[in-house]
Amino acid sequence: MNKYDCIVVGAGVGGMTAAYHLAKLGLQTLLIEKSPLPRYKPCGGGVSPIIAKYFDFDLTPAIALQVHTIRYTWKRGDGVEVNLPTAMWMVHRGQFDQFLIDHCLRQGVEVKDNTAVTGINFDSHHWQVQTTDGIFLGQYLIGADGVTGSMTQWLGLKQQRPHPGLVLEITGLEPPPPEATFEFGLLKDGYIWTFPKPDGYTICGGIFRGYQSKALHSSLINYATQEGIDLTHSHVTPHWLGLWNGDHPLHAQNALLVGEAASIADPLTAEGIRPSIWTGLKAAEAIHQSLNGDTNALATYTETIHQEWGADMMWAQRLATLIYSAPSLAYKGGIKRPQTSQLMPKILAGELRYGDIANEAIKQFSGSLIPGRGR
Ligand SMILES: Cc1cc2nc3c(=O)[nH]c(=O)nc-3n(C[C@H](O)[C@H](O)[C@H](O)COP(=O)(O)OP(=O)(O)OC[C@H]3O[C@@H](n4cnc5c(N)ncnc54)[C@H](O)[C@@H]3O)c2cc1C
Repeated sequence: MNKYDCIVVGAGVGGMTAAYHLAKLGLQTLLIEKSPLPRYKPCGGGVSPIIAKYFDFDLTPAIALQVHTIRYTWKRGDGVEVNLPTAMWMVHRGQFDQFLIDHCLRQGVEVKDNTAVTGINFDSHHWQVQTTDGIFLGQYLIGADGVTGSMTQWLGLKQQRPHPGLVLEITGLEPPPPEATFEFGLLKDGYIWTFPKPDGYTICGGIFRGYQSKALHSSLINYATQEGIDLTHSHVTPHWLGLWNGDHPLHAQNALLVGEAASIADPLTAEGIRPSIWTGLKAAEAIHQSLNGDTNALATYTETIHQEWGADMMWAQRLATLIYSAPSLAYKGGIKRPQTSQLMPKILAGELRYGDIANEAIKQFSGSLIPGRGR
């Protein structure tokens, strides 16, 4: 039986990034994915170009188009347009994920798709990973099985309750204008974001406050219809959001969690691709250090994620609480104002952290919630 230095469970962006970097660091790596690849991933596919720095190969062949303008709206009106200082990348997740898996294979990662992990067991030296295609042994294990995976629970780590999301994928259209839209007034406890693709749109909705998904489907369909978008070639897929909700340990015996298995998506915007990739990279580095004798490397991984991501997500969560509890006031008094409308693109581009703006933004939003005090 082959023994691997590391087995990565789940070939999403988090798992693929971890596997790529593990192999690059010279570790024998097995990546196990339950779906046949390429698999469909329900996701808006908007991502900051800053992710380029996490790879040593050119990502641009996998970018479907670039967006230079974003528009905020309230019930489709009261719009504000913002020119982006840095273009935002739009990816087709099928193509983008296939591009990453090709690089994993070239780097020497062994990929087993169509194979579900059904249980894990640590035998004092190795993880025994049971799958629908036999048992595999790995000295280290990475749980990258996403928001609905079982690895978090199997490793005895805390699993967050997922929030509902929905993707309406529309194809077969003329190329739309390269503009992204964030609509705040039509979906209770969440928002709707529309990302252009070369032949259509990906329209997404997410519930960030609470867990009720009843209005999601009708809200997205009504919104697209009112926008005059032809839905002849469209399909709807519900999925979950693994939003950050407090810091928790992300390491266990010879094992780490990455991506949405670790609930790292931004609780204000649902941005999850960038932090999943980043945690994948950090996990690979930590396991490499652990193999080289650093007995604290896995605990340090948890600390790094908390300090460099969790600390900022705490501010995102505070802003989300303000915005989603009084969205109309927050929109008029905060989001659409020039001082704040410029900030979100910079945060999505990874050029600004919530912590850098939180005091000012919270003052602004809080002020807007008290009639007469909005600036
Ligand atoms: C509606 C919606 C819109 C979104 N839009 C955006 C956006 O525009 N920009 C952005 O940055 N983020 C967005 N996100 C979030 C983003 O898609 C995720 O954060 C990111 O893709 C998570 O990556 P991951 O690698 O952690 O997990 P996943 O991509 O979920 O990958 C996990 C993989 O593990 C596999 N798996 C699960 N269980 C097993 C098992 N037992 N054995 C083997 N394999 C298993 C799954 O099949 C899956 O392929 C959106 C999410 C939703 C729901």
